[in-house]
Amino acid sequence: MDKVQSVRGTYDLYGATKRKMKKVISTGSDVVEKYGFEEIETPIFEFTEVFARNLGDTSDIVTKEMYCFEDKGGDSLTLRPEGTAGVVRAFVSNGMQQNLPVKFYYSGPMFRYERPQKGRQRQFTQFGVELLGIETPQADIEVIAMAYEFLEKLGLNGQVTVEINSLGDEESRNAYRTKLVAYLQEHYDELSEDSKNRLQKNPLRILDSKEECDKAVVENAPLYADSLNEASQKFFADVLRGLDNLGIKYRINNRLVRGLDYYSHTVFELTTDKLGAQGTVLAGGRYNGLVSQMGGGDVAGIGWACGVERLSMLLEENVDLPRPIAVIPVGEDTNDKALEIAHSLRLAGFHVEQSYSGNMKKRMMKANKVNAAKAVIIGSDELANNTVTLKDLDSGEQKTISQSDLIKELQ
Ligand code: ATP
Ligand code: MG
Repeated sequence: MDKVQSVRGTYDLYGATKRKMKKVISTGSDVVEKYGFEEIETPIFEFTEVFARNLGDTSDIVTKEMYCFEDKGGDSLTLRPEGTAGVVRAFVSNGMQQNLPVKFYYSGPMFRYERPQKGRQRQFTQFGVELLGIETPQADIEVIAMAYEFLEKLGLNGQVTVEINSLGDEESRNAYRTKLVAYLQEHYDELSEDSKNRLQKNPLRILDSKEECDKAVVENAPLYADSLNEASQKFFADVLRGLDNLGIKYRINNRLVRGLDYYSHTVFELTTDKLGAQGTVLAGGRYNGLVSQMGGGDVAGIGWACGVERLSMLLEENVDLPRPIAVIPVGEDTNDKALEIAHSLRLAGFHVEQSYSGNMKKRMMKANKVNAAKAVIIGSDELANNTVTLKDLDSGEQKTISQSDLIKELQ
């Protein structure tokens, strides 16, 4: 290593960026906890199989993006590229089927080997939810409503569109696949190499391709909606009616499929045109087959995840820090008293910036720099009389008060 820098596609998060991300996560947590979701934290790495088998072996993540390594014991491990597989693995490992429904939320770093660009990192943060054990459309409605409320609380509803589609049940999916393969075979020569390969293994994936040549072919592909059987049509109609009843605006996007194998019925994305090509800020859907695929029995699931960095980029104004009180000793012999006063103010719940060095002017400048609302000044007179000078840094007004009255005065 000859350069002191972070790995390409990874970032140090601090200052305003970190504050915004923290706001996104705390807003999300507050919203979903009202719906009865509890936080879960699963390991950052899992056995490679957990992802390789469950996300689908032709997905972009599994074919190109995973950080896999062999540990010293010879196990193949992978840094998690997304949250759902790990949460479902935890659900199965811990035998949580006994007490349905199970509602979890999580946040934390995810890792994908992708080409770094605006809104696309190699380490990024997701906040997500998973609801296990409810098969009915009410779960879909509630989970989408939760996403909608989350964005509303962040003040982003005006900038984001809810796009929704249905992939139907297994029968509908098979019917669609047959039609799609027939169509794609007619356009075989126009497809990208990846998609030629996918045509055998997983043709649905081609609909989600980012290659221009594939997109042109997909433009005229048969529509999913025409292959939904009656039960799937009813399911989708129930979801849409529920959203209408709650006043949630959406746009049906017939071309929306999700890049992973495990989705069925409802899929949705919240998108914005403010982030260029990386316009999807939140995405999710129903995954009824995933739990049984992991050996956990027939348990339905639905969930979503958002990109915390992408959402933070949409938050325009800075997230303000609380304004502290500056405690300013004047003269060597007042340092001990100043520390004591700062300590008692913190114990009483105030944010306090202690001033350590410099002349009075420097110290006042520092107090303004940290945006302090008030200054508590202790000079030799104050020390002798057990008082402090309390200065309002906005109005400039100041007065002398006794040290024992300080907390009361500030409250
Ligand atoms: P994209 O189409 O942008 O590649 P995706 O379908 O791979 O997204 P998901 O797996 O659904 O994304 O992840 C959910 C959300 O996580 C995305 O909508 C996005 O906001 C965020 N996300 C995904 N990959 C990245 C990344 N490499 N860097 C930053 N955020 C990401
Ligand atoms: Mg991706």
